Amino acid sequence: MLAENLVQKFPFISNYFSLLLENNVQKFPQSIVFEGLNSYAQCFFALELARILNCLQDGRQDCNCLNCRWIRENKHPAISFVSQLHYKNSGDDSKTVISVPQVKNIEKSLKEKSDYHRFFIFFDARQTPQDKNAIESVEKYSPEGYNIFPENDWCLNHINSKTFSPLTPNILLKCVEEPPERTTFVFLTKNRADLISTIVSRSQCFKLPVATKKADISDIANIFSKYPDISYEDAFLISENLQNYIKDNETNADFVLDSMLAYLANKLKIVNNNELLYKIQNDIEYVSQAKKYSAASILDKNVFDTLLLRLAGGEK
Ligand SMILES: [Zn+2]
Repeated sequence: MLAENLVQKFPFISNYFSLLLENNVQKFPQSIVFEGLNSYAQCFFALELARILNCLQDGRQDCNCLNCRWIRENKHPAISFVSQLHYKNSGDDSKTVISVPQVKNIEKSLKEKSDYHRFFIFFDARQTPQDKNAIESVEKYSPEGYNIFPENDWCLNHINSKTFSPLTPNILLKCVEEPPERTTFVFLTKNRADLISTIVSRSQCFKLPVATKKADISDIANIFSKYPDISYEDAFLISENLQNYIKDNETNADFVLDSMLAYLANKLKIVNNNELLYKIQNDIEYVSQAKKYSAASILDKNVFDTLLLRLAGGEK
C-alpha cells in the first residue's frame, strides 16, 4: 500500500509494485534503476518500497509501527543513502565522489546478518542550499508524515558520469550480482545510460515519468487544427510537432496526452452528428491506450506515430 500521492502520480509503476509486494515478494528485485526527471520522486518511491517491505504490520499508508516511523524520519538502520555526503567513513575525505572505501563498507556490512530488508539508495548529492526545484519537489512528492529532508544544506541529484570514483562500480557490481537475501540496491538516474551498463544489465529499470510543466490545451488545439480530418501524411507531421512541443516546453508525453484528452472531451460537447461522435469516442480510447504505452517506457516517437496513424485511420 504505497502512499496515495505517489500512486496518483505514478499509477502504472505503483500498480506493478503493489502486485509484486502482495503476491510475489520473494521476487522483489535485488537492484532497481529508476529513470526520470525528478530525483526526489524516485527517492520517496524507493523509501515507500523499503517501508512496506519492513513494516511490522500490513504496510498501510498510515502505519505507525517502529519500522515505518524510522523510515519516515530517515533513522532506519537498514535503509542507507549512499552519496558524496552519506555513508562516509570518518577518515574518508573524498567529498566529490562516491569512493572505494564507501563501497567496501557496504560489501562488509552485507556479510552481517540483518533482520530487515536492507536498502541502499544511490544518488549524487551536493552541499548547497536547496534550490527552488528541490523545495518544490519535496512538497510535491513527499508522502504524508515523511521528514527526510529537514536540513536545507544539500541537494539530491541524479547519478551522473562523475558521481562514482573510477574503481567503485566494479566493486559495487560484485555486491549487486550476489547480494544476501532481502537486500535491494536502488540507483536514481535521469537516464539509465548515466550508470555503467554492467550494473544496469543486472538491474530492473523503471521509468517514473514526471513533468515540470503541464501542456497548454490551446497549444495542443493549434497542433490539431486539422482534426478530425487528419490525413496519413498529416499524421507524421503532427506526431513530430507534438514531440517538438514536449522538448521545447519541458513537458512529457503523459501531459500532452492528457491535454489531448481534454481537447477531445471539449469537441465531444459540441459535436452534432452521430458519426463524428462515434469517431471522437473511439479516438479518446486510442489516446488512453497511448498513455499506457507511454507509461511502459515506449519511445515518444513510437507512441505518437502509432496514435496519429490511428486517429488518421478514422478518416473517410
Ligand atoms: Zn508499519
